[in-house]
Amino acid sequence: MGGMLFAAETAGREVFLGFNTAVIILFYVLTTVTVGIFLWGFYRRIRKYTRGRQSARLNWGRFIRALGDISSNRTIAKRNRVVGVAHFFVFWGFMVLLIGTTIIAIDEDIIGFILDKPEWQFWHGAFYVGYAFAMDVFGIGFIVGLIVLARIRRSEPPKLDYTRVDGVEADRKGYSLDDRAFLLILVFLGITGFLLEGFRIAATDYPDFEVVSIGGYVIALLTGPLGEQGNDIARMITWWVHGLAALTFVAYLPYSKGMHVINDAANLAFTEPRSSAVLPPVEDPTSPGYSTLADFTWKDLLDFDACTKCGRCHEVCPARASGSPLSPRDLILDLREYADARSGIKMWYGPGATPGHAEDTEVAGTVIATDTLWACTTCMACVEACPVGIEHVPTIIQLRRRLVDTGDVEPGLQKAFQALARGGNSFGKSAKQRARWTKGLDFKIKDARSESVDYLWFVGDHGSFDPRATEVSRTVAKLMHDGGIDFGILYDGERNAGNDVRRAGEEGLFEMLRDANVETFETASYQRMFTTDPHSLNTLRGEYPTDDDVLHYTAILDELVSGGKITLNQFEGQATYHDPCYLGRYQDEYEAPRRLIRAVGLDVVEMGRCRENSFCCGAGGGRIWMDDSDLDERPAENRIREAVALGSDVRYFVVSCPKDMIMYSDAVKTTGNEEQLEVVDIAQLIERAVEAVPVG
Ligand code: SF4
Ligand code: SF4
Repeated sequence: MGGMLFAAETAGREVFLGFNTAVIILFYVLTTVTVGIFLWGFYRRIRKYTRGRQSARLNWGRFIRALGDISSNRTIAKRNRVVGVAHFFVFWGFMVLLIGTTIIAIDEDIIGFILDKPEWQFWHGAFYVGYAFAMDVFGIGFIVGLIVLARIRRSEPPKLDYTRVDGVEADRKGYSLDDRAFLLILVFLGITGFLLEGFRIAATDYPDFEVVSIGGYVIALLTGPLGEQGNDIARMITWWVHGLAALTFVAYLPYSKGMHVINDAANLAFTEPRSSAVLPPVEDPTSPGYSTLADFTWKDLLDFDACTKCGRCHEVCPARASGSPLSPRDLILDLREYADARSGIKMWYGPGATPGHAEDTEVAGTVIATDTLWACTTCMACVEACPVGIEHVPTIIQLRRRLVDTGDVEPGLQKAFQALARGGNSFGKSAKQRARWTKGLDFKIKDARSESVDYLWFVGDHGSFDPRATEVSRTVAKLMHDGGIDFGILYDGERNAGNDVRRAGEEGLFEMLRDANVETFETASYQRMFTTDPHSLNTLRGEYPTDDDVLHYTAILDELVSGGKITLNQFEGQATYHDPCYLGRYQDEYEAPRRLIRAVGLDVVEMGRCRENSFCCGAGGGRIWMDDSDLDERPAENRIREAVALGSDVRYFVVSCPKDMIMYSDAVKTTGNEEQLEVVDIAQLIERAVEAVPVG
């Protein structure tokens, strides 16, 4: 520290300056009681998790990535930069202050007192100077971050309104109270910490090395007029106020929102980002899904406790937005309250230990209402938005499995299941009609079961039977044919891929469909597979026991266009593109469709909710088969309004999923926007560009 304004070697301070032994003993007694209260609360939670079923979640690669996410606060910043940055300062402020306190405990209590090795003590001199500087810088960041977060909360954003969406009467004032208490106690700790430092510096005659304690030094300059004695009295009082607040905070942690400090880090470390895309199989076919609390895994139970009620999932949920009784946040909170009640845990502010659910209570249909469970489109927006790695979708599906097993199935869905079981498609048509859409093509599509092909095209139910989607199938066929792709289909051998059947909770039917398809694949000769249906893409890629390389058709069209196999004339205008949930969030494919739209000369104007943040059409997870007439507004209608709001220059609403074609061509009609917006598949755009007169 040569050349400094002060001699660093004299730097240091006494922790219990001016306190007699009795007071010091009292402090340690209180600390011991506090640690005991903390450990008891912490133990109760760990005991709750250990009662969960096993789930192998340790993956070192993911674990290390999670450390990066936790330390950077990336998952918090990804949807809201301001909150992310503010939380970053609070997080690191908290960590540094915690480390600082631990350093004092090691130096004073362990080395100085227990080991009695004063010569080993290091909390003085240059180390102390660096320590004091870091503590003040991070302490200031901590308070500023907290103030920003408090202001956001005061502005009462709708996502922090805890009113239930299902109309069930519930007093949730306790939730808000807990949020505020947590924030307030942190701000109080930060401010009293700086006051204490300021009084101490002024009471000890402004030691020159303390200029590095920038916050405290400024306060000391302000409190100077109190005089040395006045500052010393103020220091003694503030020492106790701050100390007792710190002890209260530690004791309070496991009984409050404060526990998220520990739970969220653990949850991020053990989360499985692909758990919605690749569902776990049913372990016991005689009792599928989650029946009682005993069926939940430890990670599910940790999920419930990790929820900070930030409302991000609630905000993005299409089911919630359309007025259905599902909010993913409420679902998680209800399950938390149920798990707490069953584990004898009661939160001080109200929730928990709610009586009324016996040990053998069926969770599906009681703790979580049947309508709530059937409302989910499995769009995965909640999982994507959640900053702490909560996996809502697999939990919902486990509960749906139970509903299916007990026969508590939505009537439209039941009809679809029956049709699928009979003929392998949800349209109730005979398998013989599956390839009827190919009629009218001026070439014959190969039957991959009898002729060898490069690509096997898995067409899917909607692309095979629905008139709007079969039109697109014919266009895709022509483009592939003209582009020189050697492809074939399975004709009457194809069955529904089962993706949505599985997500509707009918595991047995999924297995039947999957096995029938796999058997047919084995009779076919092909190199790779492609599909026009993102839902099929998801299950074919991740849930079939095959190692086929499966592509979405836009990837092949993209190759054909960029490789010059399809020459495009340009036409002008603006288009917006809807990312299908099962192509984007589920399969992380965003670019090929956009490149294709640009390749035909159109500008892509993005909707606010695009890419990972795309808004579901409302068809997924079996919802396409269910009655949606009671919704306030269908998700597809909400989406069309969003596209229309981009302005009248946006003429095309481009899709790349047969279900989207159906949902959105209905929605432009029901919202009266047929004149303004044309719903068109990417393949149809390409076809038009092939036929278009060149610009200029
Ligand atoms: S998957 Fe989609 S519909 Fe289901 S709860 Fe999550 S956000 Fe809502
Ligand atoms: S589940 Fe996740 S996104 Fe939803 S409120 Fe809880 S922490 Fe926020």
